[in-house]
Amino acid sequence: MSGILKVALDLPLRTLFDYRCDQPIAVGCRVEVPFGRGKKIGLVAGSAPHSDLPADKLKSPLRVIDDRPLLNTEITELLNWASRYYHHPIGEVWFSALPTRLRQGQPATPHPEERWRLTELGEHNPPEQRAKKQHAIHNQLKAAAKTASQLDDELPNWRPAMRTLIEKQLVEVEQHFDSWSGKGDEPPLTLNNDQQKAVDSVAEGLDRFQPFLLDGVTGSGKTEVYLQLVNKVLNRGKQALVLVPEIGLTTQTIDRFRQRFAVPIVLLHSGLTDLQRHNAWLLAANGDAKIIIGTRSALFTPLANGGIIIIDEEHDGSFKQQEGFRYSARDLAAVRARNLNIPLVLGSATPMLETLHAANTGRYQHLKLPERAGNRSMPKLEVVDARHQRMRGMVSASLRAEVRDHLQRGQQVLLFLNRRGYAPVQLCDDCGAVPECSRCDTAFTYHQNRNLLVCHHCGSERRPPSHCESCNGETLVPIGAGTERVEEELRQQFPDQTVLRIDRDSTRLKGALDRHLEQVHSGEAQILLGTQMLAKGHHFPNVTLVGILDCDQALFATDFRAAEKLAQLIYQVAGRCGRGEEPGRVLIQTHQPHHPLWQQLLSKNYTQLAAELLSEREITGFPPFQHLALVRAEATGPLKAMDCLTSLTQQLPGSTQIDTWGPVQAPRPKRAGHYRAQLLFQATDRAPLHQQLHRAIALLDTKTNRQIRWSIDVDPVDLY
Ligand code: ADP
Ligand code: ZN
Repeated sequence: MSGILKVALDLPLRTLFDYRCDQPIAVGCRVEVPFGRGKKIGLVAGSAPHSDLPADKLKSPLRVIDDRPLLNTEITELLNWASRYYHHPIGEVWFSALPTRLRQGQPATPHPEERWRLTELGEHNPPEQRAKKQHAIHNQLKAAAKTASQLDDELPNWRPAMRTLIEKQLVEVEQHFDSWSGKGDEPPLTLNNDQQKAVDSVAEGLDRFQPFLLDGVTGSGKTEVYLQLVNKVLNRGKQALVLVPEIGLTTQTIDRFRQRFAVPIVLLHSGLTDLQRHNAWLLAANGDAKIIIGTRSALFTPLANGGIIIIDEEHDGSFKQQEGFRYSARDLAAVRARNLNIPLVLGSATPMLETLHAANTGRYQHLKLPERAGNRSMPKLEVVDARHQRMRGMVSASLRAEVRDHLQRGQQVLLFLNRRGYAPVQLCDDCGAVPECSRCDTAFTYHQNRNLLVCHHCGSERRPPSHCESCNGETLVPIGAGTERVEEELRQQFPDQTVLRIDRDSTRLKGALDRHLEQVHSGEAQILLGTQMLAKGHHFPNVTLVGILDCDQALFATDFRAAEKLAQLIYQVAGRCGRGEEPGRVLIQTHQPHHPLWQQLLSKNYTQLAAELLSEREITGFPPFQHLALVRAEATGPLKAMDCLTSLTQQLPGSTQIDTWGPVQAPRPKRAGHYRAQLLFQATDRAPLHQQLHRAIALLDTKTNRQIRWSIDVDPVDLY
């Protein structure tokens, strides 16, 4: 008797696919199956005695790829749970757990990577100067052996010259394996009382599920707590999974683990080559790697013997995937830790209100580190009144005087502006017209360094016009300032100091962020200017002054999370200073010095402010007191998306347990050529919310046509 295999395919369809199979194949194994006129890689998700398809339509797999499951039961259960909870097609969810090469059907064995390195002969015999390419390669390899992708980044078309170098025996190829062992030469620090209590509380129950909020102010030594917990987990022969924000994965973070532990550590993030990810994933799955450090999607890495999950900076927005399979790695980590029966530690100086609420109500155990480690004091926040200063640039005279003062004492200064580019608007001095991205109907940001207009919503770029495109006027003036323009201003004001700009533009190249951070640590740069990138997690002991240049816009944002996000951002930026011997000062430059939020930020700490924000949420019925789900739709015509959602609301049954808001135009009504609308469901209980989503999806699946793209966002973080 032959059975039916239920196979997950990487397709946006809410179903598994039936195949006939004579021998049983374990759940989690890959198979290659015929599909349409071609074939596809699939993952076995289950079996059934019979199929609803007619027997002559049933096909058999072409081959079985794995003899053992690639995804173990623990992971497949997590993926099934996530697919149900986030209402996302099962095949896409399952495939999101695999690195690219495994998705493509490559064998599940680690595969060494080729690296080119200098031979003995090569070390002492550089090629002649006029062989330019060979010379450049030689220079690159002098520093370290390089992989093909590293060479691709640095020296386009390097292969012919490399062949010559190999023929001359100056270079050889090595088979390199990208799992490295840490050095483990750094002893643990002596914990202070609060740190010790935190470690003890978690260590008490390493064999059971318990989520912890490690609520520690910036510089309180959360990392040391993680390290000592990881040590205990390793001593029991188990693995530690550490998730960090997307830009938190710097050399500095990795080095702290490497210096502490002489065990194989792997990284999983988007900056790796496919092969590196492939190897790291397999080494985590087979248990060879003991510490796995990664960003959001590393949560889905199978672990042979998982012992703890740690999420650093748990409030960070990058733990929420904002497109496709929209999930929260933080929330799924709790599901996974529960299934594995292990502790989950969420660390932050500015926890999300949802997490704080879970701690307040006893679901999470609340561990507090209220003071900075090593007797350092918290920085002091003050407001600089930017009114009446007749500012010509972005830095007021009083802030400038403070900057000068700190620099004269040999300290570093950090200026924060959350807007990259040169100017957010370029305007015609004759008619006032502003070049706009026609796909998004929003102003282009002018980037002077690359001489481009860039749309920050869809990424499109174009050359700036030489004349106004409306009136042919010749004078186009940049209005407002982004980091590039402030950089220019600072260089003029402080010609003798080194200004370093750190934002997404200045760190585009691989390794650039690390190089910039090195310039900060070495003291080579004195004035650091940057966006959020500079605000997160870094430890800059010599920074004593933080200037926050312009956050006034955020005071008027309407999103219900706006105050929380602004408070987190300000406290995080503030937390970069006063981490060394000298105390820190934070100056918030604003045209709204009396705004209640600034006043709250100055007079309270994050814990107090968060408590107030939470009680506001309770009154207004926003998360975590009620739950939200958002249906988004977009289409190329101006009304189609709205019409689609309107007819959806008309067909959905009403419910006393659900509030329905909208449909309304999305806060960003047009993006990348698509007009956007949205519909919000709000409910106290999750069950009716999920039922309503089921109905909505059934209707959208049958009623909509290809012209409308729609998506479901459960527990949305951004309502745009
Ligand atoms: P957080 O992650 O909480 O912002 P870090 O882990 O970066 O803080 O620690 C801040 C600084 O305090 C680091 O230089 C760290 O080495 C130091 N530190 C942490 N714990 C201790 C301790 N118990 N004794 C002395 N210094 C400590
Ligand atoms: Zn655009």
